Order: sequence, then C-alpha cells, then structure tokens
Amino acid sequence: MSPEEDRVPVPERSPEERTNDFDEVPLGYSPEQAMEEAERCLECAKSPCVGGCPVEIDIPNFVKSIADGNFKEALEIIKETNVIPAITGRVCPQEEQCEEVCVMGNVGDAINIGKLERFVADYARKNDLEEAPEIEESKDFEVAIVGSGPSGITCAALLAQNGYQVTMFEALHEAGGVLKYGIPEFRLPNEVIDHELEYLDELDVDIRLNRIVGQNIELDELEEDFDAIYVATGAGSPRFLGLEGEDLKGVYSANEFLTRINLMKAYKFPEYDTPITDMEKVGIIGAGNVAMDAARCALRMGADSHILYRRTTEWSPARDEEIEHAKQEGVTFDTLCNPKRIIGDEDGWVDGIELFECELEEEDDSGRPSPKILEDTEHKKDFDTVVIAIGQEPNKVFYENAPGVEVKDWGGIIIDEGTRMTTKEGVFAGGDAVSGAATVILAMGDGRKAAQNIMGYLEGS
Ligand code: FAD
Ligand code: SF4
Ligand code: SF4
Repeated sequence: MSPEEDRVPVPERSPEERTNDFDEVPLGYSPEQAMEEAERCLECAKSPCVGGCPVEIDIPNFVKSIADGNFKEALEIIKETNVIPAITGRVCPQEEQCEEVCVMGNVGDAINIGKLERFVADYARKNDLEEAPEIEESKDFEVAIVGSGPSGITCAALLAQNGYQVTMFEALHEAGGVLKYGIPEFRLPNEVIDHELEYLDELDVDIRLNRIVGQNIELDELEEDFDAIYVATGAGSPRFLGLEGEDLKGVYSANEFLTRINLMKAYKFPEYDTPITDMEKVGIIGAGNVAMDAARCALRMGADSHILYRRTTEWSPARDEEIEHAKQEGVTFDTLCNPKRIIGDEDGWVDGIELFECELEEEDDSGRPSPKILEDTEHKKDFDTVVIAIGQEPNKVFYENAPGVEVKDWGGIIIDEGTRMTTKEGVFAGGDAVSGAATVILAMGDGRKAAQNIMGYLEGS
C-alpha cells in the first residue's frame, strides 16, 4: 500500500485565542498522530534527509522508532547528535533542510520531521523517559565557553560528556542566548529551554551568569585559567538604517524590543518592572523571522501591527510558517515600500514614517528581484512605535577586547575552517559570531565541530 500523500496536520490554537496571550501556538502531535505521520516514511536506503540536517540526525531510524511506538529509542537516536531536539523541532527551518530533500516530497508532502522531533522530545520530557547522561572518565582539562546560546550549549554538552571540565560565561542574567531573549514564548516556551539547560546541569557544566568577557572579565584571564576557550558570542548587535528620526522616542531595535518583551517580560508590566511604550500602531521595518517575531509580539501587546517591506511577501526571508501565522493573527503586510525618514512630534516621540513606493526589477546578488525606489511617491503613514528589524551583527565588546583574535571587516571572527581555531592559539569560535546571523541548527553544528577539534587539540591529535 502506498503511503498517504498528505501530512497528518498539527493541531494549533485558533488565531482569536492565541493573540490574547504569549502561550505556544502549535499544540504538537499526540502519540497516535505522531505514529500515523511516522508511518508515511519510506525508510529510504540512501535517506537524503540525513544529509539535509546540519547535525546529520539518523532520521529514518528515529522516525521508524516512532512508527513502532518506541519513543524512548527515538529520543536516544536523536540525542546522539542533537542535544536540544525540543528546540530544533520547533524553530529549525526544516522546509529548507531535512524536509526539503525528503523523498516523500516528490509524491506528496515531505515527512513532518521537525514536528516528529518535537513530539519525541516533549513526550520524553512529560513522561520522564530521559536517562541521566553518561559521562566519560574525568579528564584533566578545563575549557571555557563564552556565550550560552545554542552553539555554546552544544559545545559544552559534548565536552562535558567526554569528561572535560567546562565553565560557561554568559553576559546576561539568564542562559540560552537568542532562544531566551529573542524568540518569543509563543514559538518557543521558556519551560522547554530551561528543561534543555538542565541537561548541562546534569553534566556538571558550571554556568556563570552576568559575566561579560571583554568587559568585566578579560580574555587573558580566561587563558590563564583554562586550557582552551570556545567563543560563541552570537550576533546580537542590531543594524540600523541611518535614517533621519531613528533616535526619536518610540523607535526600538528589534533586539531591544524583543528582549524587553521576552526576557524582561514587559508584557506582564507592572508585575515585572520592565516598561515599554504604550503602543497603538507599530511599524516594523524588515520582513525576516526577527521582524515576524516583533510584529506578532506587538499584536499581542494590543497594537495594530504592520510589516513594512520593500519587496513582496513571497521574497521575504522569513519562514513560510511564520508569515502564515502572522497573517492569520492579523499582522498587516505593507509591501513595496521603503522608509525615507521617521517623523517625530514636537515632544520628540514617533508620529509616523515617510515612505517611498517601490517596484521590483531584475534579480540582485541575493537572487531576489531588487526593489527600485519610485521618485516623488513619498507619503506618510501614522505610527506611534517603530521597530527596526533589518539584521544583526557580532557584538564588538568581545572582539575589540580580544588582542590576537582577528575579525572580518563586518566583525565576524576569523577561524581556520579545518581546526575551527581563531587567529589566537587555543581560542576557538563558532555560531553567529563567526557566520553572522544564521540559524540555531547551524550554530549547534559549529559547536559540535568545535568540541571535536578542541578535544583533538587538547589530546594532541
Ligand atoms: P546566540 O544565540 O546569539 O548566543 C550568544 C550568547 O552569547 C548570548 O546569550 C549573549 O548574551 C552571549 N554573549 C555575547 N557576548 C558576550 C560576551 N562578551 N561575554 C559573555 N557572553 C556574551 N534561527 C532559527 O533556526 N529559527 C528561528 O526561528 C530563528 N528565529 C530567530 C528569531 C530572532 C528574534 C532572532 C534574533 C534570531 C532567530 N534565529 C532563528 C537565529 C538563531 O537564534 C541564531 O542563529 C542562534 O541563536 C545563534 O546561536 P549562537 O549560539 O551562535 O548565538
Ligand atoms: Fe531537521 Fe533540524 Fe531536526 Fe535536523 S535538527 S532533523 S534539520 S528539524
Ligand atoms: Fe523518510 Fe523522507 Fe528520509 Fe526517505 S527521505 S527516509 S521518506 S524522511
């Protein structure tokens, strides 16, 4: 019998219900639904899906274990290469990775690999199926990890499993990197991140919060105390457009806006002491995942939320699922427009944005049609809050205070692709700090490779 062409749909909360809170939108599969979806897998001999996953999870085997109802075994298979499956199952751009090359996609829907991965991790967490991690005999090497995002977490876990003594330094008052301060709870609940971080606790990783390397602790000091260092400081510094009016009250970078709302819980003000401006109409400049997160947060804060984008939605770099969810919830997409300046009122608060109209021309270097500004089309749209979401780059605090660690002109740390070492002996780097803003799973892949190279370096192989 040939497998069902269509995926088993994942239940979701209705847009009317979910825009009133920050609770998670997709509810996830039940065991029966997960088994039914897993049964669609063809168990292909060459299984291209594995090559589509940056950490090469043994997808056919974990999916088969689900189809057999053996969820514990499925988890063990996934955890061989992925220490945070509840997170990747939720936020990986699967449609461009493992699912893009799934053979079932040629005849119908690709297997819903991400949602199956999420199901296994959630089921194991709720049913206490996780075993305490096995730790190899203790080794006499100490490694420092700078940054507690997915790249740092992955590197730390692999080293600690192998018996190395690991200490993690994190600038913020909570660990997790973008997973905690950037991605909103309706996509990735904190409870899920905290549970995955407990795994580091079980591995005896020492996590030191509120430690900014390059500011209140120097790289030299780490070099004295540790045998190797992995730098995974991410790309948390926002880019701005250089527009007139960007310094007005009511203009936020997406990073600040999301950090206030997610990490500092501004949506629970005054229970949490984090103020954010009263928002009635918010204009978000940009159309990537970060912009979608900001737009959906603004909506949940009670505002009329508008994405302002110079191309059309089909060229947006955000995941299809995020665009779909934003549209369902009532975010307005104002496309083919480019900001000229942000307009303020007499008290220095945002009053609106002056925009040009655009049209699309031939493809540019990004492979997308380039937007052409149409002269004499300036018009004002009223907004009381503006969020700039046009990208991030590595933060200077680390690399400007790390003598010997060289960076590219845009701030990306330079590493040797083979050894993953920076231009400074014993200092390795990876994740967004090296690649620029990328994805959780690529940052994890870097953390994995770095851990392997650090072990080789310390063992002298
Ligand atoms: P980060 O997650 O940025 O972590 C770096 C950590 O280092 C931070 O905690 C930071 O505080 C700390 N740090 C920085 N400097 C120092 C210092 N000097 N000393 C000590 N600590 C320091 N990717 C996806 O795959 N799917 C998504 O849906 C998705 N959505 C996103 C939404 C938003 C709003 C953002 C901003 C990004 C999103 N991404 C998404 C991208 C993804 O989150 C990143 O690619 C990934 O988190 C990078 O991991 P990292 O470990 O390299 O860095
Ligand atoms: Fe797919 Fe991401 Fe899971 Fe790999 S980690 S199998 S790319 S969802
Ligand atoms: Fe299953 Fe798709 Fe992988 Fe084939 S390519 S093994 S159908 S998940």
